[in-house]
Amino acid sequence: MPPKQQQGNQRDTSDVTNYMPEASDVPTPIRFFGFDAAGFDAQMVSWNLPKFRAAQIRRWVYDKLVSEPALMSNLSRKDQADLARHVAFQTSTIATHQRSSDGTQKLLLTWEGGPAASGPPAGANAETVMIPDGDRRTACVSSQVGCPVGCKFCASGINGAKGNLAADQIVEQVYRFNTILQPRGERITNIVFMGMGEPLANYANLMQAIRVLHDPQCFNIGARRITVSTVGVPPKMRELAHEDLPLNLAISLHAPNEPLRKQLIPWAEHFALEDILDAARYYFDKIGREITLEYILLAGVNDQPDHARQLVKLCRTLRANVNLIRYNEVAGLPFGRPKGDDVVRFQEILRDGAVNAHVRKSRGRDIDAACGQLRREKLGESNGETMAATSGNVSLPVVS
Ligand code: SF4
Repeated sequence: MPPKQQQGNQRDTSDVTNYMPEASDVPTPIRFFGFDAAGFDAQMVSWNLPKFRAAQIRRWVYDKLVSEPALMSNLSRKDQADLARHVAFQTSTIATHQRSSDGTQKLLLTWEGGPAASGPPAGANAETVMIPDGDRRTACVSSQVGCPVGCKFCASGINGAKGNLAADQIVEQVYRFNTILQPRGERITNIVFMGMGEPLANYANLMQAIRVLHDPQCFNIGARRITVSTVGVPPKMRELAHEDLPLNLAISLHAPNEPLRKQLIPWAEHFALEDILDAARYYFDKIGREITLEYILLAGVNDQPDHARQLVKLCRTLRANVNLIRYNEVAGLPFGRPKGDDVVRFQEILRDGAVNAHVRKSRGRDIDAACGQLRREKLGESNGETMAATSGNVSLPVVS
């Protein structure tokens, strides 16, 4: 029903709860988690609904974690029904939920119903991991289904990318964990884009998801608690520097020189290491946040003293700290976990060179918590694929 009109342009607001558009006005439900507060307000206004109704709905969804319109008790029955018809809230199903003995949890989410036009095909799935550490609850979020980069040591890139996740699908990963954490009075406090996919290859959806996660009326997660991890896409790194958000930027370096990097990371053929470092310096100059260099130690490949010395030299060219991550073997891939002594020696060389270097704890090894593995198991089940990745892979970095 269109809203009743009073004389002039004054609208009768006495039955304002009945102003939702008819179904024919909105053939496809909008996806709630793709909208920040201003965007959802505008959507409501376009339906001739007042902004305060949008704020009420946000309070249900974000404060009380109620995303079922029928339970939003301060909305009229009509509004509840219209909301259910016109707005989709959680659109995934949880295909698998694993819990590690160390508190790490992992979800495999599936979207059956056909996602947004820019998203992956229906039936696509993506992994997300929650890592508890003290008061911090970090969500390691996927940005794509699979990964186009194809790092030689990683389960996510083995079959390439199946598509981009839409902004709401990225955001929903965090919301799912908030609902799981709610009984303990906990919420996700930190976000790292270190799950499946190259986030800067899905830039528009990534930034919209970040806007929703950052919005004080939505998830209210500070920009300093959000880390974007990239294999190194210089044009997008520079674009990120102009977003006016002090996000943490992490670069998956994994090798201290160009030839070795090209062996490990196929995209290194497209983006020169020096250009990546130049973009990192640009980001630091604009944003003032120190860059994190992620470095997975692979036994006998990049974990030797000479590699550490080369890394010291590289680190002198920019303001960076280094996260060292011990690789965990993936069955079928020709890389090994480094010896403990080699890891200690590598870190000592970095520290002797005045590089701030930390060895990250392995988390969730008993649930194969590294990105891509659970999804590959499921793909193997459903497609009859040979499972290459069956064991715990890389440690899950928790960036402070
Ligand atoms: S390590 Fe990261 S960038 Fe490389 S293939 Fe895996 S998900 Fe992609």
